[in-house]
Amino acid sequence: MTDSNGFHLAAKAPTPPGTKLKSAFSGAQPRHIVLTSHSNRFSSSAALPIQWGKADPLERGPIIATVTDPVHRNVIGAHSGSYAVYRALAVASGVLQPDHRPDLTNTAPTVPIGPYSSWADPNKIVSFDPFGALVSEVFRPLLDQAYDIRPTIAITQAHIQLPELQTAIRQGLIQEDGVIVKPGGDLVVNKAAIEPVWYLPGVAARLGVDEEEIRYALFEQTGGMFPELVTRPDLKIFLPPIGGITVYILGDVAAITDPNRPLAVRVHDECNGSDVFGSDICTCRPYLVHGVEACVQTAQVGGAGVIVYFRKEGRALGEVTKFLVYNARKRQQGGDRADAYFSRTECVAGVQDMRFQELMPDVLHWLGITQIDRFISMSDMKYNAIVNSGIKIVERVPIPEDLIPADAKVEIEAKKAAGYYSEHQTLSPEGLARVKGRKLVD
Ligand SMILES: [Zn+2]
Repeated sequence: MTDSNGFHLAAKAPTPPGTKLKSAFSGAQPRHIVLTSHSNRFSSSAALPIQWGKADPLERGPIIATVTDPVHRNVIGAHSGSYAVYRALAVASGVLQPDHRPDLTNTAPTVPIGPYSSWADPNKIVSFDPFGALVSEVFRPLLDQAYDIRPTIAITQAHIQLPELQTAIRQGLIQEDGVIVKPGGDLVVNKAAIEPVWYLPGVAARLGVDEEEIRYALFEQTGGMFPELVTRPDLKIFLPPIGGITVYILGDVAAITDPNRPLAVRVHDECNGSDVFGSDICTCRPYLVHGVEACVQTAQVGGAGVIVYFRKEGRALGEVTKFLVYNARKRQQGGDRADAYFSRTECVAGVQDMRFQELMPDVLHWLGITQIDRFISMSDMKYNAIVNSGIKIVERVPIPEDLIPADAKVEIEAKKAAGYYSEHQTLSPEGLARVKGRKLVD
């Protein structure tokens, strides 16, 4: 039943009534299933080695996660983060050819980023590929040899419109300068989308755990989805099925790395309920927009602004857990209040937070940042992670009091008491118990 290429499935499985899909288990033609956990698949010299942290991209080696030519694969996992699953559905339903290779004509970045010395340090960037946007350029000789190397970063340009900025223009807080802010209030930005590419020894070191521990936990907690995590310790790179990062750059990109020009940065973790739909239970959207305003102001005085948006919904616990916690908070005895804010999350999720800010500064090092003049965040975890990674922070900017929705007082006071940056004294346990949120209307 097996051959040197892996598995040869000839068994027939029951086909659900009404199904029209061809599968490995149904047609007359049996199909090869390549088990990547068989190391003999990779003994081929066609798989290029990766030396993480090398300055020369060809010496570093390309990330090859495509399944179009399995002998070239030199990593664990698949491209596109969680969207690999939709790609699988597209292939299964016959709308996407599994051997499709992207035509990368005209897809090059709109602005240049790097390379910087941080790219050549195996410990500075461990959670994505710094060369991810330059694939077509730096790996051209290998692409010409038919290696299917795909970008894991894309950089484009956009005009963005935020209703709050119209108000800021009317209030004279920002000006229409015709370059960064167009007449009518459109913001001109360059933005980068980044997919996760984990260098497992580096991720393990950042979290202070053994690489083997992290491999086993990843294998088990994904239901055994990636056997190579435990069978292929020689493969050091893992493309996890998680969301990525989007970076919004305002102003002159060259100002980001110029020590004589100011830089404003907000690092924001996704909160769909507030960011998109305007929920008033937290400060996410108002603080994000305040960050955009600070970025515009800093760009307009000759500097630059950077908003980094991480897909780590609900402190990376996910939205289902988040909504369960909202209910638990609002239905608990004594109602939603700041002194019980963190314990309700812990009751449901088992932890208060799973964002692991230790990996967050990578994106700042990719941008070549060494100093942040205005850091638009009160998070002590983000601040500590950035400063511990070697970036200087000059000023921390809290959210203005008048931008905090009434129902979000519970969250912000609880966070300040737990160590968030504040210019005022934090509340005592008795004071926190008096900060109450709205009840549910049952
Ligand atoms: Zn929020």
